Amino acid sequence: METEEKPSDAPQDYWVTLEQQVREIVSGTMATSKAIEELPLLSDATVQFFERLTRDILETLPPSRPIACAQGCAFCCTSTEVHASALEVIGIAAHMADQFNEQETKEISQKIRETTETKGAQNKNESPPSMPCPLLKDSRCSVYPVRPFVCRGFNSYDAVDCERHKAGDAETEITGYPHQDIIAHATLRGVQRGLADCGLDGDALDLTPALAIMLETPDAALRWRAGENIFEKAHARQARK
Ligand code: SF4
Repeated sequence: METEEKPSDAPQDYWVTLEQQVREIVSGTMATSKAIEELPLLSDATVQFFERLTRDILETLPPSRPIACAQGCAFCCTSTEVHASALEVIGIAAHMADQFNEQETKEISQKIRETTETKGAQNKNESPPSMPCPLLKDSRCSVYPVRPFVCRGFNSYDAVDCERHKAGDAETEITGYPHQDIIAHATLRGVQRGLADCGLDGDALDLTPALAIMLETPDAALRWRAGENIFEKAHARQARK
């Protein structure tokens, strides 16, 4: 995302402090409880943290123009990868199990499997294909309350630019409110570092194959919590060794 306001408009150590705070929330909770049921709650606590900070910064450093993002606009939900931590993936899987009816579960699980197969069939040396997120339903995010931080952070001042970008116009720059995106990435890094502090796989995952692993492996959360590298095949390309 291109930006107009500069991140330096905020206090210099603000972003580092924010990341450290999230890291401590995550590592502190994980150190005191091994209960799997705690994981979606912890994921939710990090979301609340992000939402509160975003509200604050919108008040103190308001955007230079109105943000164009609105319900039913989903140009940004077509991409090569959607990065998320294992904690977010587990939170999304729990939300699907809790909120989706049988038909929704069947439809979205099928789309997750098909998208994962398409990605997996691709030559590793090629750029990943840009595909609609399988969690999209009628141009809306079906897991909106628990969507990943990267989705929460992304925003744009002009939906036409997003549409052009989605259509393959790489020249079009998407300009948006930077602070929301920066807070989202700082929160994600804090989560990842907090997980790594506890000896867990905190690398960035590609959401779709990570959810496919959750669907195929009923005890995936338990095994990940026990330190197993269950999401190895879903590591985002930038995080692969
Ligand atoms: S998780 Fe939701 S917001 Fe994020 S890319 Fe998928 S459909 Fe869009």
